[in-house]
Amino acid sequence: MSPANPHETALLEDLNAPQREAVLHGDGPLLVLSGAGSGKTRVITRRVAYLVKVHDVYPWRILAVTFTNKAAREMRERLTQLLGAQANELVVSTFHSAAAQILRREAEHVGLTRSFVIYDDSDQLNVVKRAMREAGIESMQPREILHRIDQEKNAARLPEHMQVAPGDERGQLVRKVYAAYQERLRAANAVDFGDLLLLLVTLFRTRPDVLENYRRRFTHVLVDEFQDTNPVQYALLKQLAPPPSANLVVVGDDDQSIYRWRGADVDNILGFPRQYPGAKVVKLEQNYRSDQNILDAAHEVIRKNTRRMEKKLWSERPRGQTLDLLLNRDERAEAQEVARQILALQREGFIKLSSMAVFYRANAQSRVLEEALRLARVPYTLVSGRSFYDRAEVRDASAYLRLMVNPRSDADLLRIINIPARGIGDTTVERLTDFANARGVSLYEALSQPEQVPALNGAAVKRLKGFRNLLESLTAFAQTNEEAAGAVDQMLRETKLVETLLAEGSDEAQTRAENLREFLGAAQEFDLNRAAAAVAAAANPPPEVPPEVDAAPLTADVPALQAFLEQISLVGEADAEVGDGRVALMTLHAAKGLEFDAVFLTGMEENVFPHARAVKSETTFLSEDASADGEPSEEMAEERRLCYVGFTRARKRLFVSLAQCRSLFGELRYNAPSRFLRDVPSPLFGISEQELPEAPRPRVPSMPRRRPHDEDDGPRIDRSYSQASSDMDGVGGDVRGMRVRHEQFGVGRVVSADGNGPNAKVTVEFGGGVGLKRIIARFLMPG
Ligand code: ATP
Ligand code: MG
Repeated sequence: MSPANPHETALLEDLNAPQREAVLHGDGPLLVLSGAGSGKTRVITRRVAYLVKVHDVYPWRILAVTFTNKAAREMRERLTQLLGAQANELVVSTFHSAAAQILRREAEHVGLTRSFVIYDDSDQLNVVKRAMREAGIESMQPREILHRIDQEKNAARLPEHMQVAPGDERGQLVRKVYAAYQERLRAANAVDFGDLLLLLVTLFRTRPDVLENYRRRFTHVLVDEFQDTNPVQYALLKQLAPPPSANLVVVGDDDQSIYRWRGADVDNILGFPRQYPGAKVVKLEQNYRSDQNILDAAHEVIRKNTRRMEKKLWSERPRGQTLDLLLNRDERAEAQEVARQILALQREGFIKLSSMAVFYRANAQSRVLEEALRLARVPYTLVSGRSFYDRAEVRDASAYLRLMVNPRSDADLLRIINIPARGIGDTTVERLTDFANARGVSLYEALSQPEQVPALNGAAVKRLKGFRNLLESLTAFAQTNEEAAGAVDQMLRETKLVETLLAEGSDEAQTRAENLREFLGAAQEFDLNRAAAAVAAAANPPPEVPPEVDAAPLTADVPALQAFLEQISLVGEADAEVGDGRVALMTLHAAKGLEFDAVFLTGMEENVFPHARAVKSETTFLSEDASADGEPSEEMAEERRLCYVGFTRARKRLFVSLAQCRSLFGELRYNAPSRFLRDVPSPLFGISEQELPEAPRPRVPSMPRRRPHDEDDGPRIDRSYSQASSDMDGVGGDVRGMRVRHEQFGVGRVVSADGNGPNAKVTVEFGGGVGLKRIIARFLMPG
């Protein structure tokens, strides 16, 4: 490398010293461990560009993985700016999609064909149910079994590797269903998400020769958001880039590990230097994203976690404005207030709508926020990428397409066997399924001899034949057709899915038909992108490489329809584009890695955020967030990290909001303010200690409901908040003594309560000569 290389200067000039050190690091493992907004993702992209431009590493030798498709897309865009067309040859993707691409090339080694399909959660559940039915297991919920199977896969364990104690009957059931489930998937030429990684890791373990091909090819592996890798992902990394000396660069922040529920293990990042002895460790401490007030608040929340690497970020950015605390009567008022503040910011703060985001802990919270934004005419995008592909009609269309490439997929066939309605009833389907099971063949194969299915009448046989003919015609078409859109178009015409909906005539059916047209549009867009990539690749032919090295793009030779289906199978929760000129609405989990000028963190209440599960995990503890020895529960520690992630997305303005009472999940609750609020010193909000809402106590019960017509009150900051919450805490965290109001009886105090929630029976001592009354809680509101 020559210092005169002009790329070198350009790629390094706007990096600080430790960032530069990470980019310049030579061979061997490297860990970049640092807080939010310190330029970790920037280091990854610069290092990739540096390897290509300065060290002349072929781009196809570089594998860069990150957590969501959206992050991968962003990384690719940044790299295209730095590298131009060469960026097309890099493998920049999520763990799942890189694994899917490699697995497809090696499919025959794992008992699949290249046209395998990827089952999602609801397909998985169907397969679990069928496996349970066959094994005669009724004593467990299919959801629970599926959850256990997913956990085993995250931990890189096949059924035979499960650790089940001899007396653990449920564990044995799970193992039995898991084994049957795997068999069913293989028979259907299908995999689930967990399999993408697990099958690949298993293949690499048993076929070192296959693994060697990929090790030879990928001389550089880089991982962003490393704190969220689970054991199976880590196993894959160790295979591709083995310790102690491979060129594995991992970057992450232990404080942002938020996927424990998917098996992520924060110890992976903290223990990296043990796994890769001699790894270089670089720490970045300067934050470039957030004003100091925001950083201080985030630090105060996260520092209560015990098992973490202590780090304090500093910023050259100004202290900035104080944080804003929005106290509201209920979730509607909260949503209206958020809408109002957004409009005010846009007007006065010169902040664009597309630089604002609203976060919440649970997806269900978005409904009320959406309504308020619509009413206030604030354009927004709901970042929940799967919703389009999860629509029933789009799933039907996908099921047909998947059968076109893989007719053995029973779950897909069962989905559309009578869609559009063709008179194939449940009994016929049952008889066909029994017949297929008895013969050990797929439903598609069974359909080729419907006369032989016992107890079917002539009409049923005829309908099954008609259905089989339709599928045959479609699969034949798929084999000759070159484009995804052509296949979608043909499928829509032959199945008459759109026509049938239009014939229904209802508005809803009309919308569903439009969704199917939109689906066709998605396929057209996919084809266009693919064609553009092919043109770019042709303009940039691969260099001479040694014959033993496989430099072909991982997706070479994958037919268009299959590639399209793979792409839509891997669309994740957080993948929707944040629209131009629109406020983004998303869960805290989806916010990872992103940044906005203004952030609204809503629902800052106990049992909402922190989540009820985490609060429950702590109820045995005496102090508010920790046991006597100061150790928070794992669940609560993860909620804290999630709060840290939320706060640190904000550049300039951070609004935290809460509601005095909230209906969520069909239940009305009065929750105490979130403990995370209490951790933020009041001056950061620009208010005095007394003005902060009361600290939560453990076991605050759910409280009675306000009068329905109070919902019309409109947005306002409810100053009675702290009053009400201190009442709530008045008698040792009990509702007794709380001031309440009843429309007819006026103001009184709760004497006792029987039960919880809106239907609790509450005895109240009313003033004004009314005396004691027993009243259903929902007819009361805090006085
Ligand atoms: P997170 O922990 O949220 O993933 P991160 O550590 O990956 O954050 P980046 O997203 O890479 O951080 O960077 C945060 C912001 O700071 C970005 O806007 C980035 O462009 C900017 N930034 C990073 N490094 C520098 C630098 N040396 N000079 C100026 N701006 C920088
Ligand atoms: Mg990042």
